[in-house]
Order: sequence, then C-alpha cells, then structure tokens
Amino acid sequence: MGYSKTDLTESRILLYYGFAPLEDPQAVMFWQRTLCEMLGLKGRILVSKHGINGTVGGTLASCKEYVRRTKAFPAFKGMEFKWSEGGAEDFPRLSVKVRDEIVAFGAPEELEVNEKGVIGGGVHLKPEQLHELMEERGDEVVFFDGRNAMEAEIGRFKDAIVPDVKTTHDFIKEIESGKYDELKNKPVVTYCTGGIRCEILSSLMKKRGFNEVYQLDGGIVRYGEKFGDEGYWEGSLYVFDRRMHLEFTDKAKQLGKCTHCGEGTNDFRNCENQECRKQTLICDKCWDEAEHRYCENCAPVKANA
Ligand SMILES: [Zn+2]
Ligand SMILES: [Zn+2]
Repeated sequence: MGYSKTDLTESRILLYYGFAPLEDPQAVMFWQRTLCEMLGLKGRILVSKHGINGTVGGTLASCKEYVRRTKAFPAFKGMEFKWSEGGAEDFPRLSVKVRDEIVAFGAPEELEVNEKGVIGGGVHLKPEQLHELMEERGDEVVFFDGRNAMEAEIGRFKDAIVPDVKTTHDFIKEIESGKYDELKNKPVVTYCTGGIRCEILSSLMKKRGFNEVYQLDGGIVRYGEKFGDEGYWEGSLYVFDRRMHLEFTDKAKQLGKCTHCGEGTNDFRNCENQECRKQTLICDKCWDEAEHRYCENCAPVKANA
C-alpha cells in the first residue's frame, strides 16, 4: 500500500463523528469492530441509528487505512477526522457498541438526522467566522458551554455560561429551567470539545425557543489549532483519554484550582471513596496527604469518620 517507515513507527489518535441515518447500526458495529481489530486500533466507538462517534488510536498507517475504509461507506463519505498526538497506548481497550444515542442526551426520539446531518441544529461557525461574529456583535454574543461543568473548570471560552450539568443527560432539564430564558433572543454560540455535543444541544435549544443559536464547527479542538491561546479560548482542554487535558500553547492560562487549597492545578483525580470516584481537581501537594484524596463532598465525611 506504499506506507513510509514513519507511518509504521509513529502513532496518532483520531476523533470523529458523523450524523447520518443508519439502517442497520448492528452491522456497522460489527464491521467497525472487525476493522479496528484488524488494524490494531484501540479506543471507543458508539453507533446508533443516527450515526457514529469515535476516538481511536494506533499507528499512523493503521489510522490512515481506518479513515480510508470508513469513508468508503456511503453514509460516512463526508465525515471529518481530527488527528492528534497519541496512540493505541492511550486507551485501555477497544470498545465498539450500539446505543440508542451516540451522545447520551436522553432524547433519542427528538433527534432527527438526514444525509446532511442533524436537522434543525444551530448555524455552524468556523473559527474565523466566530471571530467575524465577535467583531460585529461582540457585546451581545454569549458563549454557552456544551460540556459537563467539570470540563470547564480548567478551560472555557471567555465569559462563557457554564450550565450546571454533570452529564449531557442534564442538559434538557437545564435549558428548560428558565435560567437561560434571557438568552433566547441573543446570539448564543455553543461549543464543546470536537463539535458533536453541540450538534444535538443546538437543535434542542432551537426547539425550546432559543432564536439565534450558533455552534462552533470542529469544536474547541479546531479552534485551538487555528487560534491557539490568541483568541477567545482560555485555559486547558479536558480530553477523554489518558492525557486528561491538553494545552494549545505554552501561553495557556491556568484556570483550574485545587479543591482543597486553591492552588492552581489542572490535575483531575478520582475521589478515593470507591462509591464516589468523582473527578476532582487536587494539586500534587494535597494528593500527597491521604485525607485530601477526596472530593469536596467526601472530604468532610472522611474528616468526621
Ligand atoms: Zn491543594
Ligand atoms: Zn467523593
């Protein structure tokens, strides 16, 4: 197939999603699993009747072959892949599953897709188009974080609204709460890591009366590639693999603060209460002390025990 030596020694991580009606998600799942096993890729792929969402890592040659074969499937022809540093070793295993939703908003019946993607979503803005919007209407524009609140603790867009969500399941309740009704006639820009959560969130918001909704195309990842730390993004990007977070440049602000002492840190650690395991920002110094290896809810319980 003509791969160079570097293709076999270097490795990468691929992030991608595609919304398209899939008649037989089960068959797609089996095909994808076999393909990944054959290529030695590890990671996580979800398939539903609305499309596919995956993060996989492996050698550069395997990643290239994976992209080529996946795009050969008509429904995934136009799918975009984001490449980043890393490899199979960043994932504990390969998991390929069929689910009701490729992102769990708890609204599988509400989501409508066609060959072009999600129906009724927000207007896609490329990073440079976001800057145009900010130049024209900067004072009015509101950034709306489409991730779990925890992710925004270490990085977010300037002055962003961070909804009170532990998982994407909480979004519907949150946008129906009335808390954000004043945004219904403002330009609202939703953003998330790679764009997939906003595809759904922006459509749910529009259906609930938010009149001018945009979504950041390609998410924070693509924005960071374009503008690094010279634009509206501030801090570190939370990622769902062993890296835990990444910075676009060495000028990244540190927004994260240790839950216990308030020192700057971007290190999430699992609460040592095995029933909790909540990812909590805890600095190195506090983590060295057994009584601080807990989240803010479990720490006092531990102290009183
Ligand atoms: Zn600390
Ligand atoms: Zn805890």
